[in-house]
Amino acid sequence: MKLFTCGPVTQYEESKINYKQIPYFRDPSFSQVVLNTLSHLSSMMNTNKDDSLIYLASSGTGAMEAVVDNLINNEQSIVINGGTFGQRFCDLLNKHHKTYAEIKIKWNETLTSEHFLKFTNQNNIKDFKFLFINLHETSTGQLYNIELITKFCKEYNIFLIVDAISSFLCDDYTQYQKDFDVSIISSHKGLCLSPGCSFITISNRAKEKIVSENNSKSAYFNLVDYLKNIERGQTPFTPCVYSIYELNNMLNYIEHCGGLVSWVNEIRKKALFFREQMSNKGIRIPDYPLSNMLTPLLLKNITPTILYKKLANEQIYLTPCGGTLKDIIIRVGHIGNISLEDLDNLANKIGQYNG
Ligand SMILES: *Cc1c(COP(=O)(O)O)cnc(C)c1O
Repeated sequence: MKLFTCGPVTQYEESKINYKQIPYFRDPSFSQVVLNTLSHLSSMMNTNKDDSLIYLASSGTGAMEAVVDNLINNEQSIVINGGTFGQRFCDLLNKHHKTYAEIKIKWNETLTSEHFLKFTNQNNIKDFKFLFINLHETSTGQLYNIELITKFCKEYNIFLIVDAISSFLCDDYTQYQKDFDVSIISSHKGLCLSPGCSFITISNRAKEKIVSENNSKSAYFNLVDYLKNIERGQTPFTPCVYSIYELNNMLNYIEHCGGLVSWVNEIRKKALFFREQMSNKGIRIPDYPLSNMLTPLLLKNITPTILYKKLANEQIYLTPCGGTLKDIIIRVGHIGNISLEDLDNLANKIGQYNG
């Protein structure tokens, strides 16, 4: 089976655990594993020294919801909404009765500084305290200009919340990490681990706000408890014990392969190689800036649904889109344990099916 999906992906053998028994987690020995592993992850993410890093037993959406629920009181937010995951932040803000303004990025449109003029020209920017962005909007493949976003947030003193779920270990962005107030990643995307675990980095000023206001309406996702517990390597409730061991293995494996920069370079190499193959076969890809994580294809002679089915019959899995993009693009993932040869074979098959 070959997975060209956007998570879960083909796991690296090196990250798998050969365990005899999951250990009891309320024990100092597990606390120490958690502290060491999260400290390794923080350094790979390039967080500030005094940022906290907590982890939740939930997929990335749970972490997104926890941030919305805990960080915001009655202040207004801006959401960059360019697809499914931008819309997810809007839905979560709605559910929690928080007000926001959207910067809507239409299909095939690129986010630029002009999109911010509606705030800066009307001089209403002081009304906004938070900006939510999915650094890579996985539903379209667009990688937003993070330099533009960090500058804007600094200039107007806005808290920046970055969903880096599909950019960590896929794209080069960690030089901007120190300007993020909150960032979210999860286990089964760039980290290529089993699904079910998410991680949140929280800056000092965001921490102070969360702890002093204690806004959360949730019992399970009250981050005040997570922040307090993590200081001793613990969580308020039973954590994804398994994920911590996988994470530890994976981080060590990435170091063994040369570290974050080489890792991301390898994925970029795969993405560029595949895009060249597609262009040689006359298959178009969109014009907006793309993440290395995936390539969206605009097929001419076959629909995404039929291509998906034909390849799935051969145990090859691409990532279809939902909603309005269902019949427009199909996505080919470049993360997980897949080789250039796998991508070459896939490119030939797609070329044949597309005619
Ligand atoms: C995968 C993903 C999420 C979280 O989705 P889950 O189904 O909760 O794993 C959030 N944002 C982005 C950009 C993603 O790619």
